[in-house]
Amino acid sequence: STYKRVHNFNAGPSILPEPVLLQAQAEMLDYQGTGMSVMEMSHRSKEFEAIIQTAEADLRELLGIPQNYKVMFLQGGASLQFAMLAMNLRPAGASADYIVTGAWSRTALKEAQKLGTTRVVFNGEGENFTRLPEPAELQFDPNAAYVHFCHNETIHGVEFKSEPVVPEGVPLVCDMSSDFLSQPVDVSKYGLIYAGAQKNAGPAGVTIVIIREDLLARVPEKMPVMLDYKVLAESGSLHNTPPCYAIYITGLVLKWLKNLGGLNAMYEINREKSEMVYRAIDESGGYYRGHARPEARSIMNIPFRMASEELEDLFVKEAKKADLIGLKGHRSVGGLRASLYNALPVASARALVEFMKDFQQRHG
Ligand code: PLP
Repeated sequence: STYKRVHNFNAGPSILPEPVLLQAQAEMLDYQGTGMSVMEMSHRSKEFEAIIQTAEADLRELLGIPQNYKVMFLQGGASLQFAMLAMNLRPAGASADYIVTGAWSRTALKEAQKLGTTRVVFNGEGENFTRLPEPAELQFDPNAAYVHFCHNETIHGVEFKSEPVVPEGVPLVCDMSSDFLSQPVDVSKYGLIYAGAQKNAGPAGVTIVIIREDLLARVPEKMPVMLDYKVLAESGSLHNTPPCYAIYITGLVLKWLKNLGGLNAMYEINREKSEMVYRAIDESGGYYRGHARPEARSIMNIPFRMASEELEDLFVKEAKKADLIGLKGHRSVGGLRASLYNALPVASARALVEFMKDFQQRHG
């Protein structure tokens, strides 16, 4: 090919599937004979209506979203959802339960605390967010407005393997930003799922929210419209100008996922990539040390450490020379982090593993 592509381990925004980028390039100036880019077209046009409706239909098919759920394509990132879900789903005077397993669920909690009553059911901070709660540690409030958790902690690399079991009637609310579409999910177990698109689903600028319809009845009166799930859901995400181009690219990613064989096929590939990297860590004799406990390990984000910051800096520098980029850990944990999102080829994971072994031989 005539262009350079690096092995991209960024945590987000991150790598997109190459066929998606090529198709976007081919359609850039003239989207399907319209003589316009999707960026230039009215969000009320029949062409854009088809784009957003097809994206929703493909998402519904991939995730098996039941009919009694609404799908929204919103702006403001997953970070806006931290506040918005609390404003919409927690009636005045009610309390919500939070499971805190890492930096992102902690941030979600902090936002909700500003706006009302919360209860922390589990907090892994004292153990540096290296593990998930045991079922017996989760004593939920049967009257909680909802239970919030983060399916995959992008910074600490801990990922739930199954949903926490909540009391009957309490909706489960989940930040799925960094493992959304990486594996099958039983949507019917959730009241609300949200995910910033910029890891597995598409470019930054669009946030996907899936909500069970009956929860829309909880939305308080006199909400600002842009924060009102009811308005946004009932307008089909077209109350105002949506992030049209980001939705279009997300639609292409969803087609790519369907062509690949859907979420079961994607999950197999993601497991293969992550097992390869974890094996390299485990077989390094302590040269590389994973942050998360083995049973909590994420298939998407793998934070790991080395003996010194000097060595870690050298690792990042030499990796970059070998076109392995985005391996520096988040500033709050330090060290290294390999993010292995859907679009990352198996060959890139293999290239990382080979680099890790080679680096250890040269500097170990
Ligand atoms: N939640 C998780 C799990 C994340 O990984 C991120 C970003 O990396 C966020 C929330 C914040 O998302 P955004 O930047 O879209 O607000």
